[in-house]
Amino acid sequence: MPLRLYNTRTRSVEPLRPLEPDHVRVYVCGLTPSAEGHLGHARSFLFFDVLRRYLEHPRNGYRVTYVKNVTDVDDRAIATAQREGTTFDRVVKRYYDAFRESMRVLNVREPDEEPYATHFVPQIVEMIAELIERGYAYVSEDGVYYEVAKFPRYGALSGKNVEELLVGARIAENEHKRDPLDFALWKFAKPGEPRWDSPWGAGRPGWHIECSAMSRALLGVPFDVHGGGYDLIFPHHENEIAQSEALMDAPPMADMWVHGGLLNFDGRKMSKSLGNFEPLTELLKRHDPLAIRLLFLQTGYRKPMNFTEESVAGAKASLEKLQKAALRLREDGENSIRERAKERVETALLDRNLDMRAEAIFQALDDDMDTARALGLLHTMVGDTYHWHSLHRSDKALALAREVGAIFGLAPAFDDAALDQFTTEAQTRRAVEAKSSLDDAFVDRLRARLGDALHLNGVASPEDAIQLVIDARNAARKAKDFQLADRLRQALVLEGIELKDSKDGTTWTVAAG
Ligand SMILES: [Zn+2]
Repeated sequence: MPLRLYNTRTRSVEPLRPLEPDHVRVYVCGLTPSAEGHLGHARSFLFFDVLRRYLEHPRNGYRVTYVKNVTDVDDRAIATAQREGTTFDRVVKRYYDAFRESMRVLNVREPDEEPYATHFVPQIVEMIAELIERGYAYVSEDGVYYEVAKFPRYGALSGKNVEELLVGARIAENEHKRDPLDFALWKFAKPGEPRWDSPWGAGRPGWHIECSAMSRALLGVPFDVHGGGYDLIFPHHENEIAQSEALMDAPPMADMWVHGGLLNFDGRKMSKSLGNFEPLTELLKRHDPLAIRLLFLQTGYRKPMNFTEESVAGAKASLEKLQKAALRLREDGENSIRERAKERVETALLDRNLDMRAEAIFQALDDDMDTARALGLLHTMVGDTYHWHSLHRSDKALALAREVGAIFGLAPAFDDAALDQFTTEAQTRRAVEAKSSLDDAFVDRLRARLGDALHLNGVASPEDAIQLVIDARNAARKAKDFQLADRLRQALVLEGIELKDSKDGTTWTVAAG
């Protein structure tokens, strides 16, 4: 059975049936980078990254065209620019550069196309003109509006009823529209605001029309998968449908609408007003980006999820468990190749066993991308293969672990360099056992271990030395020099000092044993 996904449009799990054979066209609503991004913004991009990798994996073998837009002009960017005495595009560039860097650190692949709204103004203007011509839009005093009453299917995606939506809906004083549900396609520029020409007056596009125009321009309608976070279903995606499908002879604009669940932080939405806001760039300094990926994979992509310091620590431990198992498989692999030559019959049997396990993992992914189940099966597979030492197929098991890891975007955790690093850490931990620490020679030993990495000149007390190393490590992490950061931590671990990172900083303890 082919890959099945939950389609919000039909409210059922359906097989993906690309409109062009072997080619899947995906549009995902991107970021409005007019303020700092947080992890909640990243969740759906992380999911669609995994979906894209799986679509391209030989199991599915699709060519994927993945478009993710950037809403590079909005009220907030304009307001920030006016406050700071700069331009909206500089504000957007600053936040978007930071977000792109976070995506790179999280090993999220770049989209095939990353259209900026302001680069598609002619296509947007053309689409608005078509909507006016067909009677779906009108020009008013402050802009051009879409007339929701003209589109009978309005509300079908979100399951909302127009009459219910109208209850309590009001037209704001500064808006000149016929009906409270009508939404802006084009906003005329006020003095001092950025503007582009249009037949109706200089101004800028509304948010919703950007996605309709850019998906039509870059993918063509209809296309296969339209994605985004759950919070975009209404009104954004409802409005996209109203705009795009009003101009189509054969809707829907997208065959499947796929929505990712929202993310809470300690049980609450992350927001500056609640005081629990942490920019993504800061969060990624404290946590292993691959552990964050694993954390998301542990929860179904549609479920709401709660992020806590404990949950990410648990994901880190789980990732290390997988890495440890992969490391043992690698060590075992060399021997198994020699042994196998002697026992051809048994090998065939073991191969079949591993093939069945791979099939089960892929079947979990086919089932609406059940990454949690796939991850569980991966844990069992690597664990079992190691425990049944006589299997002699560790090399094949490791290859499978790496293959699934690549779909999950976790490949860097299983490459040889990462496993080598893990070997040293494991050896280090063993070396630490039975060692007393914080004795008179502690600072001298630490100094010798650090070498050129950090000079502890004039430091006498072990506590001061530890604090200096912690500070240097935090500075290294801030500068994204993870190699140096690891080396500094390693030096402390070798002396029996364990570090614990939390939102409030780094604390240390003397390891037991
Ligand atoms: Zn959109």
